[in-house]
Amino acid sequence: MKARTKRLIALDKRHVWHPFTQMKEWETAENLVIERGEGNYLIDTEGRRYLDGAASLWVNVHGHGRREIDAAIKTQMERISHSTLLGLANVPSIELAGRLAAITPKGLEKVFYSDSGSTAVEIALKLAFQYQGQTRKGNAKRKFIAFTGAYHGDTFGSMSVGEIDVFVKKYRPLLFDCVHAPYPYCYRCPLRKTRRGCGLACLDALEGILKKHHGETAACIIEPLLQGAAGMITSPPGFLIGVRRLTKKYECLLIADEVATGFGRTGYMFACEKERVSPDILCLAKGLTGGCMPLAATMTTTEIYNAFLGEYHEYKAFFHGHTYTGNPLGCAAAIANLKLFETGRVMERMQPKIKLLTGLLKRFKKLPRVGDVRHIGLAAGIELVKDKKTKAPYQSAERAGHRVCMEARKRGLIIRPLGDTVVIMPPLSIKDFELERMIEVVYGCIRQVTGG
Ligand SMILES: *Cc1c(COP(=O)(O)O)cnc(C)c1O
Repeated sequence: MKARTKRLIALDKRHVWHPFTQMKEWETAENLVIERGEGNYLIDTEGRRYLDGAASLWVNVHGHGRREIDAAIKTQMERISHSTLLGLANVPSIELAGRLAAITPKGLEKVFYSDSGSTAVEIALKLAFQYQGQTRKGNAKRKFIAFTGAYHGDTFGSMSVGEIDVFVKKYRPLLFDCVHAPYPYCYRCPLRKTRRGCGLACLDALEGILKKHHGETAACIIEPLLQGAAGMITSPPGFLIGVRRLTKKYECLLIADEVATGFGRTGYMFACEKERVSPDILCLAKGLTGGCMPLAATMTTTEIYNAFLGEYHEYKAFFHGHTYTGNPLGCAAAIANLKLFETGRVMERMQPKIKLLTGLLKRFKKLPRVGDVRHIGLAAGIELVKDKKTKAPYQSAERAGHRVCMEARKRGLIIRPLGDTVVIMPPLSIKDFELERMIEVVYGCIRQVTGG
């Protein structure tokens, strides 16, 4: 190992606290230090190349070092890197808002910027709450409905609507109440039925909850088509549109958290497009800048926006903002990202790749320790189980998913598990032969680690 790498690793272990990481394990692990990116590859300080199978945590869209995005950032940098949206406008944030309004589902006209998925969700929740308060006298609509397995971020509001124990359990005493309706999850689902039946049963359950709570519910928040952090849980056809119908019927806003699904991941530019659903509020982040800059957007309808209009002294304004809101570099990157979707015909060219992935995933179902394979667009989850029949999970100390991903590293592939679900989330720009290689490596690693 080069002396420089050794020094960096030691300094990292001394000072950097990594997210979602047991640092005791990190301190003794052989860690990689990434220095460069090239297309769909990451290159570390030792010059080793790795296929970026996690799209740098689900954000990368067109590969690393895309000339068009880098050039847009550089051009913007030569003009100005940052100026505030508090009391001033800036060029790229205007242009981007116009583009977003044009491509997102019908009715979403207003864009509120921030810098991460969590803040996009916080803003959505606050907007929904304040909207209800300002449109109803003596408002009682102040609660939220979310789904089992939901993940919406790590700040307090977004944790409150989250339901995955490892992320939120410890903080529960500090979180606000939220009712969790069942998200269709077939064999895990307490309503255990066929996939379609499961979806219908979950809609019935949601209607039951809405009947009881609609008078006190501000909004329902959903990860449309795909729950990411829960382990790549795909929802059955008709579920999303059913949720939209019910939320309309019971006068409760619908917030679509497309932080993970937005910008092509599911094979649609936005997951909501598949069932022609228009949410009242839409949260965007991860892929918004093509994975280059931290930028997020919360979009909403003119109807919601209008509820915040009034005289200054009425204090109906949305008193929320982050210092870097509407950062010009981030917005310039996002515009370049959207242009690449058009000029590269990304959505069209993705379709055969999705078919290829469908084919490549087939043989995993036969592996003795694979309990389920879930897939939509260029996102998939391969769930490892101790017992295929009963679907009994591995003990968490066995670290099955983690071991598979560490083995993949040795074979030149970076992937990250969600518990014992091995996640396939490459950049949308992944080439056919790279996808084939990636899946081949994952297959080999699962066999090696779990036997069979
Ligand atoms: C990643 C994610 C978030 C949180 O985004 P951050 O940028 O990490 O704060 C929120 N919702 C969903 C669905 C996500 O996948």
